[in-house]
Amino acid sequence: MTSSAELFATAQQLMPGGVNSPVRAFGSVGGVPPFMVSAKGAYLSDADGNDYVDLVCSWGPALLGHAHPAIQDAVHSAVDRGLSFGASTPDEGKLARLVMDRFGGVERMRMVSTGTEATMTAVRLARGYTGRDLIVKFAGCYHGHLDSLLAAAGSGLATLALPGSAGVTAATAAETLVLAYNDREAITAAFAEHGDKIAAVITESAPCNMGVVTPEDGFNKFLAETTTANGALLILDEVLTGFRASDAGYWGLTGRTEGWTPDLYTFGKVIGGGLPTAALGGRAEVMDYLSPLGPVYQAGTLSGNPVAMAAGIAQLTHATPEVYAHIDAKSLELQGALTEALTEAGVDHSIQRAGNLFSVAFGTSETGVHNYAEAQAQEAYRYAPFFHSMLSSGIYLPPSVFEAWFLSSAHDDEAMNKIFDALPAAASAAAS
Ligand code: PLP
Repeated sequence: MTSSAELFATAQQLMPGGVNSPVRAFGSVGGVPPFMVSAKGAYLSDADGNDYVDLVCSWGPALLGHAHPAIQDAVHSAVDRGLSFGASTPDEGKLARLVMDRFGGVERMRMVSTGTEATMTAVRLARGYTGRDLIVKFAGCYHGHLDSLLAAAGSGLATLALPGSAGVTAATAAETLVLAYNDREAITAAFAEHGDKIAAVITESAPCNMGVVTPEDGFNKFLAETTTANGALLILDEVLTGFRASDAGYWGLTGRTEGWTPDLYTFGKVIGGGLPTAALGGRAEVMDYLSPLGPVYQAGTLSGNPVAMAAGIAQLTHATPEVYAHIDAKSLELQGALTEALTEAGVDHSIQRAGNLFSVAFGTSETGVHNYAEAQAQEAYRYAPFFHSMLSSGIYLPPSVFEAWFLSSAHDDEAMNKIFDALPAAASAAAS
């Protein structure tokens, strides 16, 4: 078989950076990315004949492990009925119902194909519903690659953001206020200054794209109360955390017991069972502003695709309490083994947690990481040697220190032991 090195060299002639999503190019850890040819359970197999215990899980969707029989079967039988009808199908409502049964305050849903589409639509909807222009986001939170939310610079209080990407117009960036995460005073001040212009606050339910950052107690509730008090909407981005941090995402660990719901949620990843499906959902009064009922336009040729719906239904049906209990337990074991290996090797670090999602941050043991500035200030250079040591031991980690680690219900003791065995050498690599 053609090697990963050869495939990568060819891919670089065909696609920018040789990839279709930037993190796959291994830019921040260096080296040749293994090209994957198959996946089963907790394992990935590459074109060079190597197997890896997978701690990326397709960046979240593989909640039940790869190629789970129930999802494979559901997909095969959906494929046999046809790939895409361009018309409504019974399964769209079934998947919507499974989501509504889990997340409080979801009275209407709209299926889309990617998380980016979900947040893009939520932002447009919030603007259309409120008649206001400004969106508040937090530095370090990723919501997909829509222009208005790529703005991440200038996290000072109510600072009008600079474009975070070439190609984003200054006018677009100026409609996004970027604030420091976990900073309630900054929120209060932003609303005091711009309150009647703010359409929505969008936040990751727990940030997992600057590494994991735990929302301080009551932070999301505070956002819900502040937006409501000011006639703005709260968009809770559960694309990554949804159906993963718990059956009802990170909201299930906070809002469910604290007694609040956002106006809009965005979902992705797990909801599609590994196929391209995402969604937004929320209060009927807001959601009904979407076309065809309301004036906010949104559409999609492949939205609610029947094969993707079948995969999502199978995934959520099999995402039982036992699945979450298993992932929570394995996550705790891994966090413990990771911190033990790093401590043994004398590597200063903190484990950043949001439910079963976690990441490691180097040189941060005194305070941990609470926002993007602190995430960026860590000793990030320690991650590349750590990552490559794990990779050469057959463990596939996220190729960036600013990403969460993902487990699945297929990570059994055998897979976990492989990870534990690899940790001491990787910790020593991180120390040097
Ligand atoms: N929102 C969050 C929190 C994400 O983590 C991501 C992707 O990682 C997105 C939105 C965008 O989703 P997609 O990559 O499906 O466009």
